[in-house]
Amino acid sequence: MTARIAIAGAGFAGLVLARELALAGGFEITVFDERDHIAGNCHTSRDPHTGVMIHHYGPHIFHTDRAEIWDYVQQFGEFGPYVNRVRAVTARGVFSLPVNLLTINQFFGKRFTPQEAETFVATLGDPRMGEPQNFEEQALKMLGRELYENFFYGYTKKQWGVEPTELPASILKRLPVRFSYDDNYYNSPYQGIPVEGYTAIAEKMIDDPSIEVRLGERYEPSMRDDYDHVFFSGQMDGYFGYRLGRMQYRSLVFERFEADGDHQGNAVINYCEQEVPYTRIAEHKHFTPWESHDKTVLFREYSKAAEPGDVPYYPMRLASDKKLLAGYVELAEAEEHTSFIGRLGTYRYLDMHVVMRESLELAATCLATPLAEWPSFSAPPV
Ligand code: UDP
Repeated sequence: MTARIAIAGAGFAGLVLARELALAGGFEITVFDERDHIAGNCHTSRDPHTGVMIHHYGPHIFHTDRAEIWDYVQQFGEFGPYVNRVRAVTARGVFSLPVNLLTINQFFGKRFTPQEAETFVATLGDPRMGEPQNFEEQALKMLGRELYENFFYGYTKKQWGVEPTELPASILKRLPVRFSYDDNYYNSPYQGIPVEGYTAIAEKMIDDPSIEVRLGERYEPSMRDDYDHVFFSGQMDGYFGYRLGRMQYRSLVFERFEADGDHQGNAVINYCEQEVPYTRIAEHKHFTPWESHDKTVLFREYSKAAEPGDVPYYPMRLASDKKLLAGYVELAEAEEHTSFIGRLGTYRYLDMHVVMRESLELAATCLATPLAEWPSFSAPPV
């Protein structure tokens, strides 16, 4: 018997599941997305005016430390070599980010060796400080006050709209601190950008007769019993009509502008000062260094609280949100034949490679388990 599966959301959380179930066979899969395109917030298309590949919801750089995930995505299209090297404009000048030996030597006017820099930076932190309880304490412990204030305080306040003392230390731990001249933004050994963009990768993933995609159509919880199982990658609180309250998200606003030639000389430049209203400017043609374009298109990125109707990007996960989350998790666990997946479905700050890995793991679990026992979540939404 063919089982009917609904997948709410055509981002990678849902599409990887669609693909894996389609390969296994025995499923009739319908993917819903209220937007008019697939690939979720990874959506790309070529800008008709400049010819540059645009990441419509902000820069997405694929990186992973897992060979099997890297091999998995390459089945769906070629990835060009790209290494993210970010520059940061601060009150004291332009520096390399993440904080590395060049940043430290230039910022403090030194010529440290790796060992000397490590010893020096250790003296900047407060040795009496115990286990950091929030973003600010983590930064002060790792980097000391001067680096924190110049690179992190202003940017973080703009990005999250709250004092860094209210944010978890885990947000800062996303970024490495290096005592070498390696300025790669990520530690991952595998990194690249799809030559034809992420939407082409997504199209290839769902190229199967058992998968039907319905764009411009929103999955409603009332449709649940038309299906044998549902994978829901929308907002968890939205699924339940926000009945316990809204968990907070940050949203982004992009201001587009064009120029000739090369406008900023790098794909991403962060603006760390609180007075500058945007957080960063991305010049998208630098994400595809193998292409050449005479014109260039850039986006200033502004962060704001997500209001009803805004695209949710970053889960805030403040203490008040976590309290609501616990209530929604209970509701989700009690929801019949529905699994909550991905960034919005589990209310976690996830990168693309993690979303894909979790969906692959969930698909494997489901395929080894009777339908009635499929799990409520792709991963625990703690
Ligand atoms: N961050 C910062 N200054 C920077 C870059 C990052 O303060 O120049 C902080 C900020 O709080 C940000 C976090 O580090 O949210 C994680 O940065 P990442 O680059 O991972 O953010 P993303 O690219 O996911 O927006």
